[in-house]
Amino acid sequence: MARIVQKFGGTSVGDIDRIKNVARKVEAEVKAGHQVAVVVSAMSGVTNQLVAYCRQISGLYDAREYDAVVASGEQVTSGLLAIALQELGIPARSWQGWQLPMRTDDVHAKARILGVDTTEIETRLARGEVAVVAGFQGLGTDGRITTLGRGGSDTSAVALAAALNAERCDIYTDVDGVYTTDPRIVTKARKLSRITYEEMLEMASQGAKVLQTRSVEMAMNHRVRVQVLSSFAEARGSEIPGTLVVDEEEIMEQEVVSGIAYSRDEAKITLLGVADRPGVAAAIFGPLAEASINVDMIVQNISENGSLTDMTFTVAKTELERTRQVLEQARALLDYRSIRTDANVVKVSVIGVGMRSHTGVAQRMFRTLAEKGINIQVITTSEIKVSVLIAEEYTELALRALHTAYGLDRA
Ligand code: ADP
Ligand code: ASP
Ligand code: MG
Repeated sequence: MARIVQKFGGTSVGDIDRIKNVARKVEAEVKAGHQVAVVVSAMSGVTNQLVAYCRQISGLYDAREYDAVVASGEQVTSGLLAIALQELGIPARSWQGWQLPMRTDDVHAKARILGVDTTEIETRLARGEVAVVAGFQGLGTDGRITTLGRGGSDTSAVALAAALNAERCDIYTDVDGVYTTDPRIVTKARKLSRITYEEMLEMASQGAKVLQTRSVEMAMNHRVRVQVLSSFAEARGSEIPGTLVVDEEEIMEQEVVSGIAYSRDEAKITLLGVADRPGVAAAIFGPLAEASINVDMIVQNISENGSLTDMTFTVAKTELERTRQVLEQARALLDYRSIRTDANVVKVSVIGVGMRSHTGVAQRMFRTLAEKGINIQVITTSEIKVSVLIAEEYTELALRALHTAYGLDRA
């Protein structure tokens, strides 16, 4: 007998039939003798709709109220799944984030989990009751409902698995595992049977939506065995070959590049005519940091005559307007000539732990993009990834060409 956490994403609970299907997946694990806690997302499209409602009322809404609104999607599915389980004769009850509670900090709309109180559900799991937990939401230190950022139910599931010391955390979704790149864009993408925590972390943080970045971080820190698998396949979680996220030692043969990710969520900002002297970068990025705006890629050129230069960087598309406001407010201090913004960009990243020991990975990326006539606007690298910013219209072309160039295509 094992203790298992199962998480079902938006498409998997997208309508009543699918919720009934999920109930049968839970039933299968219960019948196999396992203790089961389930984490659910909102029905697909619901969170987007709730976010849109907030935006329709205000451009700069109160994040605490935003959380009160968007957390409601998961409340609905947790209740519905509990009913579906009861219909199958399985004792079950729903749990909202505040009821456990799933404690978070009070950074609304992107709260971090501080701890999960599992005392009560452990007692009930031992009695054979299934806990259906609303994902994505928690209870802030300010006593209010928080949410964990888009895709956050993955993180709720891993946090719960860690707190319950679960044997496995099965993330059921609409694809049957983690692929070399998004299988919806590159049909030749290959399913990976295993991927390292580190690579998964890079894939997620560079845009692969299949797992939320923080969920991977948490799985890595707490050594949670995460499996990504399809909710539409017939078999039970322990029998389906999904993708396991594992330690590097568990992977026998390591490819140099194991995956390619892309993100359309970033926007580019260029400050033209910035003084080229010590303290300028600090002056620009200080106010952004104070406004909790994350900056990702940065390039700065040296100036030809030692006086003026340009500075280009990226921020989340959703924060583009706020970034512009902050920079304009700080204009007197920063003394730049003008601001240019571009939201039609995509960041494409190639990822692989093998990069540590192999050279030429970046070169192959640049050459491949050049052959397709794609201009690279910004480049960043880390130990196990190379990222480039290109025009958004080339997303598909770049992904397919790179996928082939690194030998990742399915035979
Ligand atoms: P859920 O609603 O179940 O949380 P998501 O939409 O968040 O599902 O994540 C699954 C989606 O992630 C897939 O439908 C797929 O289009 C996308 N995706 C992006 N990159 C990858 C990848 N490398 N492997 C698998 N899926 C990927
Ligand atoms: N429903 C939330 C979202 O769409 C959380 C999730 O699905 O993981 O972002
Ligand atoms: Mg998701």
